[in-house]
Amino acid sequence: MAITKKQSTDLSGVPTKSKISRGGLAKQVFEYAPAPESIDHVKIQPRYGLFIGGRMVEPHSKKRFPTINPATESKLAEVVDADEVDVDHAVKAADKAFDSWARLSPSRRARYLFRISRLLQERSRELAVVETMDGGKPIKESRDVDIPLSAAHFFYYAGWADKLEWAFPNRKPRPLGVAGQVIPWNFPLLMLAWKIAPALAAGNTVVLKPAETTPLSAMVFAEICMQAELPPGVVNIVTGAGKTGSLVVSHPDVKKVAFTGSTEVGKSIQRAIAGSGKRLTLELGGKAANIVFDDAPLDQAVEGIVNGIYFNQGHVCCAGSRLLVQESIAEPLLEKLKRRLSTLRLGDPLDKNTDIGAINSRAQLEKIQGLVESGIEEGAELYQPECVLPARGFWFPPSLFTNVSQSYRIAREEIFGPVLSVLTFRTPNEAVEKANNTPYGLSAGVWTDKGSRILWMAERMRAGVVWANTFNRFDPSSPFGGYKESGFGREGGVHGLLPYLELN
Ligand code: NAD
Ligand code: MN
Repeated sequence: MAITKKQSTDLSGVPTKSKISRGGLAKQVFEYAPAPESIDHVKIQPRYGLFIGGRMVEPHSKKRFPTINPATESKLAEVVDADEVDVDHAVKAADKAFDSWARLSPSRRARYLFRISRLLQERSRELAVVETMDGGKPIKESRDVDIPLSAAHFFYYAGWADKLEWAFPNRKPRPLGVAGQVIPWNFPLLMLAWKIAPALAAGNTVVLKPAETTPLSAMVFAEICMQAELPPGVVNIVTGAGKTGSLVVSHPDVKKVAFTGSTEVGKSIQRAIAGSGKRLTLELGGKAANIVFDDAPLDQAVEGIVNGIYFNQGHVCCAGSRLLVQESIAEPLLEKLKRRLSTLRLGDPLDKNTDIGAINSRAQLEKIQGLVESGIEEGAELYQPECVLPARGFWFPPSLFTNVSQSYRIAREEIFGPVLSVLTFRTPNEAVEKANNTPYGLSAGVWTDKGSRILWMAERMRAGVVWANTFNRFDPSSPFGGYKESGFGREGGVHGLLPYLELN
């Protein structure tokens, strides 16, 4: 079955759609009316300062840079490129706030966290729109996943603030001090919540730096801290690029560093703070195997595969980017999967019917394009459904590669885009071997009808989370984190408190 094609037209000018084999089934065409989310209620300021000591302050740095909407390439706002003096102010403010925050009665700390959670819910529509405009993700995802999970995270850790003695009995849990936190652009508010909620619940104060392409939801969060009347300095937010991030993590008064992002930067941070006594957790990249056995319910598996790799345009560290399918069902599964791909709607992220939004930045688009080209050059076969890409903005169609060998770059490297590499296996042992044949170890998925096989597989997967007959499922009570080059430390659950506490 040769279903290899690119969008657009072939040489004759005839839409290549006519060349797609669809297993004899005529494609049903649905026309959706536009269903854009209203943006009238959202006020994005033309320029932002830094959130230091409980208020928005004018920076020392005179430099600002724009953050754009990757779906339109239009400028949304300008944010500060914070310099060494700015970062120092933020750390000093956090340090000053630490003593009284740590000594505050735990139930009072909980009250602030509950208040933040409540305000996140109250302002959820606004936050969803800001997240979608600044980062390019579909509104249905920011509305139904990012924002509710962020609120749930604060709600969950609020519940721990006054129960630390019970979480770690006879261990005298104590906070560490100022936490320096650096987060990526794929889940801006959610990663902020993963970092700030446990730190505050444990009695630490924080300086957080959002990613340079997605700083705006953190700016709304700064307003929420003020609305919640959080004591000044408990949360500080500085914007900037990698340089600002490195200033945050290497500041001598920062006692704990939490980083989510690329493995390369994670390693450089580890080197930079080695020997400083700072505590460190790293949540880095992944190349997860999503493994489908011949006894799996195929339609359900197809939905799980789609969710695993095309959710958030594949900008997901735990994305199921390697599909391992048992040989005997490879053909019917791929046929179903290709058909499903052709129903995904790519376009305006603010449209409530959009499945695939914009790629977060031009740089990320170029990285995806480069890796996809390497896949073709190395001999893999590319499939892309017919799909019209908008003229402006950064876009990449949902794609899958067959005929992939384990040595190809597309099977080894994190693409961080909507690109799936399909491999096959014959036996469970071979599935385990191939799944673990990666320097990463963040997540894995197993699709089978047999509970015993799920347990057998989960025991053998070198991955921080193993999903069974589902994928990309998150709950604040469930710890998340990696093995090997995917990093160390856990976020979520009771485990997520540990990196922010000193125990006897
Ligand atoms: P990155 O690691 O460069 O950036 C992540 C965050 O770290 C950003 O806030 C950035 O400003 C900051 N940063 C950059 N250099 C730093 C330094 N030396 N010290 C401290 N902070 C620094 O990631 P990226 O360039 O935006 O993306 C590159 C690749 O990273 C992606 O293609 C993807 O493979 C991976 N990635 C993984 C995740 C994840 O969730 N694990 C998230 C984003 C990106
Ligand atoms: Mn942006």
